[in-house]
Amino acid sequence: MGEKKMKIVKTIKVDLDKCNGCRACEVACSAFHASPKYSSNNPARARIRVIHDPLRDVYVPIRAGYYTPAECTGRHTYTILPLKCDMCESDPPLAEPMCVQWCLADALTYEEREEEAEEEVKLEDMEIGLESMVDKYGLQKVVDAIARISTQE
Ligand code: SF4
Ligand code: SF4
Repeated sequence: MGEKKMKIVKTIKVDLDKCNGCRACEVACSAFHASPKYSSNNPARARIRVIHDPLRDVYVPIRAGYYTPAECTGRHTYTILPLKCDMCESDPPLAEPMCVQWCLADALTYEEREEEAEEEVKLEDMEIGLESMVDKYGLQKVVDAIARISTQE
């Protein structure tokens, strides 16, 4: 058995009771990710979006997270540039992501924890890719393609 590798899992916890809808997180995120940094301030380009639920009168900050499987039914090729939360990866590293730093209401809390990585880290990416191919072409076609490729090697 090989040595287990550890990985750092970063999360941002949200306390809805504390969010007052000020949208400072959107502003800070978009300014930090502008190119060059802080050259513009456009919340529409933020990787976090504060949604207001008027019935319950709550504000819900939502980060642009992982891939969600969805079938494209369009007939044309579209080029999209998704803006995904990167937990503010930066060199030098930030002590805390920008949205957390600027959430003065403390509705956002940054946490890091260590987990065993095992093989799953790489498998996760591969499985996401395979799942999307299965969604698009069907399981049998994907299996046939893999069988064909493996006989060529
Ligand atoms: S900065 Fe904090 S309080 Fe303001 S909208 Fe964002 S999450 Fe809510
Ligand atoms: S962690 Fe960074 S990239 Fe992600 S939403 Fe917050 S400010 Fe934007």
